[in-house]
Amino acid sequence: MITLKNIHQAAEQIADTIKETPILTSTALSSICGNNMFLKSEHLQKTGSFKIRGATNKVKKAVQEGATYVTAASSGNHGQAVAYIANVLGVPATIVVPEDATASKLNAIRDYNGRIEKCGTTSAERLPRAKQLASEKYGVFIPPYDDPYIMAGQGTVGLEVLKQLDDVDVVVVPVGGGGLVSGILTAIKETKPHVKVIGVEPETANDTYLSLEKGLITSIPGTKTIADGLRTSQPGDLTFPIVQKYLDDLVLVNEAEIQQALFFVLERMKQVIEPSSAVAVAAAMFGKLGVTDKNVACVLSGGNMDVRKLGT
Ligand SMILES: *Cc1c(COP(=O)(O)O)cnc(C)c1O
Repeated sequence: MITLKNIHQAAEQIADTIKETPILTSTALSSICGNNMFLKSEHLQKTGSFKIRGATNKVKKAVQEGATYVTAASSGNHGQAVAYIANVLGVPATIVVPEDATASKLNAIRDYNGRIEKCGTTSAERLPRAKQLASEKYGVFIPPYDDPYIMAGQGTVGLEVLKQLDDVDVVVVPVGGGGLVSGILTAIKETKPHVKVIGVEPETANDTYLSLEKGLITSIPGTKTIADGLRTSQPGDLTFPIVQKYLDDLVLVNEAEIQQALFFVLERMKQVIEPSSAVAVAAAMFGKLGVTDKNVACVLSGGNMDVRKLGT
């Protein structure tokens, strides 16, 4: 398991690359939720999501150990983050993407000089290809969540929340493979154990919810949700034990709730967030947290979305 020390080391390692993102507030949102709401704004992070934190920690470590090439399997935020930091460090990156990846996502990877290889439509096809490419050229494969350096990097979000919000009571975190929440849990529970951490999944991508219920890693056959960053089919081998040990609660939101939360943040707060971020706000807006009059921080995990889809 990762430790608080790993997260402090990650914070040092990534300090010159990432931004300390702001905390936004809204009295309208607070009154709807019945809590004092604070939004940790990783949609304003470099590359548009928190993924740059873990990617930077892991890619820097790999390069320090002699890697001259990195690969990743992702069309989304992780792929962009790996391409960005590899470009900054001057090492080539190949990002293996699905055949049907949207042009806007491919362009973002290309903007960071990432090489793109298309492979299949499922992560079961992409993952082995990205690992194979890495091994052929003495490169390092950068996993999206199930890795101690990735998890420690994502955990720096938790350190910042504690620093920026001295009297926070509850932190609400979107859960995909669990890299973000396991890092945040380690940072928070090993610093201020009384602060509650609540995870959120879409009803249709409830693999971590089911795994917690059964007490072991449980895979779901498919995930159909607008929150595309949360479409993992099972929690990670390294992330899940931390979730099991520390998470106070895991709540589910439906697609309509995610959409309403996204529209609220867009319309009332003028912030472009992606559906994966909106799940945390939805949990607070629709009364799923089981707390009132508390200081609640929702992690807005990213802001990358195809804005052309708005209004259609
Ligand atoms: C990857 C991602 C998540 C989920 O993070 P995990 O570490 O896989 O749990 C949530 N939101 C956004 C925007 C993401 O890109």
